[in-house]
Amino acid sequence: MRLVAIRARAFTQQTIGFVRSVVVRSLAFVLLCPVPISVAQNDIQPEQTVALTSKDSVVATHEMVVAAHPLAVDAGLNVLERGGTAIDAMVAVQMVLNLVEPQSSGIGGGAFLLYHDAQTQSLISLDGREFAPQRADETLFLDDDGKPRRWFDVVPGGLSVGVPGTLALMDHAHSRFGRLEWDTLFEQAIALATNGFSVSPRLSKSLDGYGGKRLQQFTEASDYFFPNGRPLQPGDLLKNPQFVETLRTIQRDRGESFYRGQIAGEIVASVKESVLNAGLMDREDLAAYQTIERTPVCSQYRGHQICGMGPPSSGGVTVAQILGILEFFNLEMLGPEHPMTWHLFVEAGKLAFADRNLFLADPDFTEAPIDALLAREYLRNRAALIDLNGAMAVPVKAGTPVDTVSLSPDTTDGLPGTSHVSIIDRDGNAVSLTTTIESGFGSGLFTSGFLLNNELTDFSFRPQKNGKPVANRVEPRKRPRSSMAPTIIYGPDGSLKYVLGSPGGSRIISYVAQTIVALIDFDMSPQEAVNQGRISSRNGSIDIEKGTEMMAFGSALMSKGNAVKARDLNSGIHVIKVEPDQLTGGADPRREGIARGR
Ligand code: GLU
Repeated sequence: MRLVAIRARAFTQQTIGFVRSVVVRSLAFVLLCPVPISVAQNDIQPEQTVALTSKDSVVATHEMVVAAHPLAVDAGLNVLERGGTAIDAMVAVQMVLNLVEPQSSGIGGGAFLLYHDAQTQSLISLDGREFAPQRADETLFLDDDGKPRRWFDVVPGGLSVGVPGTLALMDHAHSRFGRLEWDTLFEQAIALATNGFSVSPRLSKSLDGYGGKRLQQFTEASDYFFPNGRPLQPGDLLKNPQFVETLRTIQRDRGESFYRGQIAGEIVASVKESVLNAGLMDREDLAAYQTIERTPVCSQYRGHQICGMGPPSSGGVTVAQILGILEFFNLEMLGPEHPMTWHLFVEAGKLAFADRNLFLADPDFTEAPIDALLAREYLRNRAALIDLNGAMAVPVKAGTPVDTVSLSPDTTDGLPGTSHVSIIDRDGNAVSLTTTIESGFGSGLFTSGFLLNNELTDFSFRPQKNGKPVANRVEPRKRPRSSMAPTIIYGPDGSLKYVLGSPGGSRIISYVAQTIVALIDFDMSPQEAVNQGRISSRNGSIDIEKGTEMMAFGSALMSKGNAVKARDLNSGIHVIKVEPDQLTGGADPRREGIARGR
């Protein structure tokens, strides 16, 4: 507490000049900020922002679904109306998303789920992350000279495809927490795939860029997404008869064919016989897939309990570290308009990402010292490294929460291609699901009516650096490190308060942390928190969302010594706030999602 008071006092003196300079410099930043011209992996956004549309908070009394497409939300609400649980609704939502937002998620990918069970007041987390085939090893993405291949070269085709986990996760969750019959959860997806649905502007626009080019390298994907050689246009009626077959099979056998039968055979053939980058997946790999129930990562932030997904996702731990560092500063007093708030936010991001890159990976292969990483004393020491007057030079080094660390950091980054679903049912159960096929359109391989992921490129391509192993290196049956951060927050009285999460590659962590600060420190409504311009700090240059109020802080951050880039930051945050008699939902204006309830 003393540190909070001292540091808060220091701000008032040290920031007067800083504030003064912001207004003048921000204009210069807007005008001069370099627009990236070289096409680096980081600059491409295969998942497109369609337009920043304004959305209003949505209020309901009993139940609510927030997801990335109105048809998916309808399917979820329909299930809830029939007396289904949040888990039942999640299955229906995911299957419709697979069809109408195929670039982002589906049964060809992986997912992480946080589930709050109202009856037992307990929280579980399910790991439905893909794993590497048994025959894959640390040389997977190395060339003949032992050098890492280019990310763009290995994404298309079979080599990047991990053994999918989303269907197994849905089956597992439904077996434990479902109420309606499994086969009734597919009706809307089957009807839409049979009769056709209207192609959305975002799906059409996504076909325009890098993702579309990848699809055109494969006949099956080209035929579906580029009928007669022309990309699907907004409003086109799209049917998917192959997916209807797949859905009917899953409806009957809950995934038996997918993991052990005919669909498994089709997935393996597609991976192994890929015209580009033939992969290593065998039928035994699919048959061996297991959803894993893991302990959620929970930490305190200003009296709230913030719960997230532990490794193999880095999401929960890294969000918790950012917040744990920020807790030593009085952000409520500073407010969202004070440049010091964002200085602290980006510095906390650098520190947390340094630890993430060194320590976090699949816990069944390398156990991370999570308790030590989240210990208050450790975070106090990390917070003390922040200089109020200047930016830390990047890359910041990881801390030493434990004595012996013999690892090298991994700075692998993916491209945004994911979806987030938040659901509350009338019994008060809550679902926070972040679901992905990794990059927009995944590997580009399209089989049995769905796309296969490229999740294996979330591994470090380099198995070691400076003679030390990288924790997130490729190993057989290992799950690549993720950044997905489905989150459930309990209020000071212990009751369920917020459900949220976001897509966005490793920027997910910044998006989720920023949103939590907006909700808790600034008391913003879900929609206000989601609307906020985005700012992302990952122990490198700072990204600020173009065309938003956040641009005003660019020059202040530059004057502290940061490299700052203006970008389209394509989050897709979906939040539900829970109060005794009311649910309030916010859907990200950067995508096509909506909140709806009753
Ligand atoms: N593959 C990424 C991860 O698991 C997600 C990609 C995205 O969110 O866009 O962290």
